[in-house]
Amino acid sequence: MKCVCPECKNDVDMSAYPTAAVGHVIECNTCGIVLEVRKIENGVVETEIVDEGK
Ligand SMILES: [Zn+2]
Repeated sequence: MKCVCPECKNDVDMSAYPTAAVGHVIECNTCGIVLEVRKIENGVVETEIVDEGK
């Protein structure tokens, strides 16, 4: 699977999330932002930035 971070535009290392599915939360290994999986299509993961409300 491939995922581009919407914040820093770097590839997120999806090998750390072999069971990623819609609704799962992943973390960008480059900028550390938390992302929620919105859609997985043709091996491409679309994510949305999660506002943790801190
Ligand atoms: Zn990032």
